[in-house]
Amino acid sequence: MISDRASTPKGNILLVDDTPENLHLLSELLIDQGYKVRCVMNGQTALKAARAKAPDLILLDIMMPQMNGYEVCQILKADPQTNEIPVIFLSALDEVLDKVRAFSVGGVDYITKPFQFEEVLVRVKNQLALKTAEVKILQLNAELEFKVKERTNQLKERSFELELANQELQQEIAERKLLEKQLLHIALHDPLTGLPNRALFMERLKQAIKRAKEESIYQFAVLFLDCDRFKIVNDSLGHLVGDELLTAIATRLQAFLKPVDTFARLGGDEFTLLVEDIKDASNVTAIAERILGELSRPFYLDKREVFMTASIGIVLGNIRYNQPEHLLRDADTAMYRAKASGKARYHVFDPTMHQEALELLQLETDLRRAIERQEFVVYYQPIVALATGKITGFEALVRWQHPTRGFVSPGDFIPVAEETGLITSIGTWVMRSACEQLRIWQEQKLAQDSLTMSVNLSVPEFSQPNLIAHIDQILHQTQLSPQSLKLEITESAIMDKDGSVTSILQQLRNRQIELSIDDFGTGYSSLSYLNRLPVDTLKIDRSFINPIDNNPESLGLVPAIISIAHTLGMSAIAEGVETPQQLAKLRTLNCGFGQGYLFSKPLDSKLVVDLLAADPLY
Ligand code: C2E
Ligand code: CA
Ligand code: CA
Repeated sequence: MISDRASTPKGNILLVDDTPENLHLLSELLIDQGYKVRCVMNGQTALKAARAKAPDLILLDIMMPQMNGYEVCQILKADPQTNEIPVIFLSALDEVLDKVRAFSVGGVDYITKPFQFEEVLVRVKNQLALKTAEVKILQLNAELEFKVKERTNQLKERSFELELANQELQQEIAERKLLEKQLLHIALHDPLTGLPNRALFMERLKQAIKRAKEESIYQFAVLFLDCDRFKIVNDSLGHLVGDELLTAIATRLQAFLKPVDTFARLGGDEFTLLVEDIKDASNVTAIAERILGELSRPFYLDKREVFMTASIGIVLGNIRYNQPEHLLRDADTAMYRAKASGKARYHVFDPTMHQEALELLQLETDLRRAIERQEFVVYYQPIVALATGKITGFEALVRWQHPTRGFVSPGDFIPVAEETGLITSIGTWVMRSACEQLRIWQEQKLAQDSLTMSVNLSVPEFSQPNLIAHIDQILHQTQLSPQSLKLEITESAIMDKDGSVTSILQQLRNRQIELSIDDFGTGYSSLSYLNRLPVDTLKIDRSFINPIDNNPESLGLVPAIISIAHTLGMSAIAEGVETPQQLAKLRTLNCGFGQGYLFSKPLDSKLVVDLLAADPLY
């Protein structure tokens, strides 16, 4: 309806005048201008016409019989159907125009007679424009109101969506928290056994240290447990069984430990236990004894009975400890002491042990510098063919001339070197020196080409991945024939962990490098396994040779080992031959070779030159 009128180009005008000439004059003028005009001659008809179809504008004469313009206007304004229609009053000049009344009854303008045409048109036009503007404003208002409503609805919808999104977010946060909790659990526990791990253990230890400082009656202790010879299980039965064993140990021990005490797996075959609220040391040693007792029962894994013992180090907490690491270190030191005194036992830490541990640490530091400072020397001990009494080779044995301690025995530093990994660089140096040395003696015609050089390889050296490449390089650099080189490894080195041993041994065989099993008889090799490996020599451990005297029973296992060697197509070397009786017995047993103080102690290279020149016959 609104748009209907607004779309009309010029507008609808209702003309009310009781004077026909005026009506005529004005209507012609307006129609000329394109307006639609209806003419009426009195108030009554004007009201009817306006109600029948509302005009855009009413031009209303004031002085009319019966009902004057003011009255008509008043009625129009009182009626909601017509009150919006603008009214312009028409008045003659001679009439007294009551302008105040005209406006108060609702008129918007007035035009005086005689009409000035331009004036009439301008006013009509203005009024209509005003009207259109008003309509437009109304329309805009309506639209605005609509938009406001729409926006309000949208906002409502949006807030609903937001509420939903918020709920999702809350759920996500909850899930995240759960995940964090799970991650935290993973970060603080050992995946294999489910026990607390090192990080969690250290945290608990820290709290215990703090508590001990705050509460004088609170006492705690740390147990460090290390399985004895666990490696053998791993090497012989495989890692899976090893893992199973660790889990079984964890389960068995945890079953009787108090839940307040923290039982953790540090890694490998090492476990730790934090015992809280103890009264005295006997509480803790009782726990250690119980653990050893629990472990003395066999484990059944993979349909096998497996026995496992452990060594336990104990340290009692006291207020002088500030760092958890120190407690662990001392418990570890005590554990080593338990191992050294025969394994399967516990040992309580006492502070003098710390001093020894410090010395060991110093040894390690010194060892690191020993190579660059050229503190190592190689000594050579002859190996004698018992049938001929001639020297057929040498074993290279490393010596450490420490700047302040003097001579350090290989028995003291080789284990440290093995543990720290330094053994590989020391070993490489020894092998290069020994090969170089033999090559020099050969060039000086002091040694025959058949003379061999035996070099010891400890387990970590033997299992380094680039061993063969190292050996090739050394042989290439020293120009020594591979047949002149023999390697001595212990039985534990050839326990095949991952099948790599057979391949390494085969590569050595391809190069014609010979292989001896050192300290034979003290390890765990099975004969059928040994039979399959390309091994050339068994070195009978000194502990079997040592007891040999004139008594036939003193031979012990020696005849058996020699016959095993021969049956498997290997030669035998007796180690530690010290007496003529021993030599005589070994000769009667057909032992191929001997080595020991009876022939010669290990010598430095200068003395070997003299020995070779003398060409002794033993
Ligand atoms: P091993 O391989 O069994 O070497 C033989 C050890 O027995 C040497 O001790 C040698 O001096 C000693 N020995 C030789 N004849 C006799 C004897 O008649 N009586 C007695 N009581 N002892 C005798 P050493 O030189 O102290 O070496 C000890 C161990 O250190 C060696 O045992 C070997 O396992 C290791 N070792 C020495 N040099 C090296 C090396 O260059 N590399 C590696 N990986 N290990 C080495
Ligand atoms: Ca050896
Ligand atoms: Ca040996």
